[in-house]
Amino acid sequence: MSDERPWVEVRGIYGWSLPEVEGGTPLAELGVNAIFMSAEVVNREIADHLHAQGLRVFAEFNTLHEAQYVEEHPGAAPVGRDGEPCPPPDGWQGVCPTHPEYRRWKMARFERTLTEAGVDGMWLDYLHSHAAWEQAEPNMPDTCFCPRCLARFQRETGVELPAGDVLTQAASLLGEPRDQWVRWRCGVFADWVREFREITDRVRPGALLGSFHNPWSDEDWDGARIEMLNIDLKAQAQYLDVFSIMPYHARFGHAQDPEWISRQTSWLGRCLGVTGDPGERHRIWPIVQLSDWGETVPVEQVHVVLDHGTRRPSTGVTVFAWHSLRKQAEKVAALGQFYHAIAPVEQAGNRRRARPLTRCPKPT
Ligand SMILES: [Zn+2]
Repeated sequence: MSDERPWVEVRGIYGWSLPEVEGGTPLAELGVNAIFMSAEVVNREIADHLHAQGLRVFAEFNTLHEAQYVEEHPGAAPVGRDGEPCPPPDGWQGVCPTHPEYRRWKMARFERTLTEAGVDGMWLDYLHSHAAWEQAEPNMPDTCFCPRCLARFQRETGVELPAGDVLTQAASLLGEPRDQWVRWRCGVFADWVREFREITDRVRPGALLGSFHNPWSDEDWDGARIEMLNIDLKAQAQYLDVFSIMPYHARFGHAQDPEWISRQTSWLGRCLGVTGDPGERHRIWPIVQLSDWGETVPVEQVHVVLDHGTRRPSTGVTVFAWHSLRKQAEKVAALGQFYHAIAPVEQAGNRRRARPLTRCPKPT
């Protein structure tokens, strides 16, 4: 039986900066064919350097997680149901999604990375409400009840809120018109994606637009992905090429259940109508956890995690996260073995030759 998975187009790693990405074994020798790195770091020189090694370069773009901006522009702080700026849940600072100057600033930065760095695609990150969900127990307060959001909501939906202070209006919103409120907020976030698509098509047609997004199904956590995080994947699908679901099994309370990765990916495929067949408009490329964040990922689990991350409808996988993983030689070796084993031989590039998975450590 062949270990090849010809449907897997991307064998990626995610890292913050080039020195970290470059450390140790040359990446092509690990079977890696794509690098995801911060838009804050990537530039033309770095992208050219990686392209020369045959690697695709994708920039991770921070959309709505900017503590310093909020500190300097208090009007951009998400407002809680008491009318006061909502403290960052578990230290995670979001931004009001209707702050016009912030949005313009972000769009300009997005365009600058695309035009100057020459990357192969942009991946939206943190595109959700003011909430800490990248942990086993999410912390998701209700926001944003700033005067701007409340006025826009009423103008755009025709819903009239009762006269009174924010406390009264927020309480009213979370009652009867809640569905409209949630739908409107999902639309606000989806409209950010629309503008990112417009910029991409205008300044670098052909570049991919992807999203690193929450891995919950419509039912998980009582529907909180839509209700609280305001991520409507179907609405965003008209603008996105690639969905990089983030099933960090160890970090998110599934340390002993790596099958959770393929279950969530499978759900996403059904939700979006993606099967992993060639030529599809949308692609699903999960980013999976191999580094120790919150929980340890043992070396014996590396192949299992990658196996579940590369099952259809997935057609690509990325590994989180190189900055710490690179210090764990055994795991890096196991990653390299897996990537070599699944790479189509004709696309092997710099790799020496395919090595079968049977030589790898047995999964637990
Ligand atoms: Zn607001």
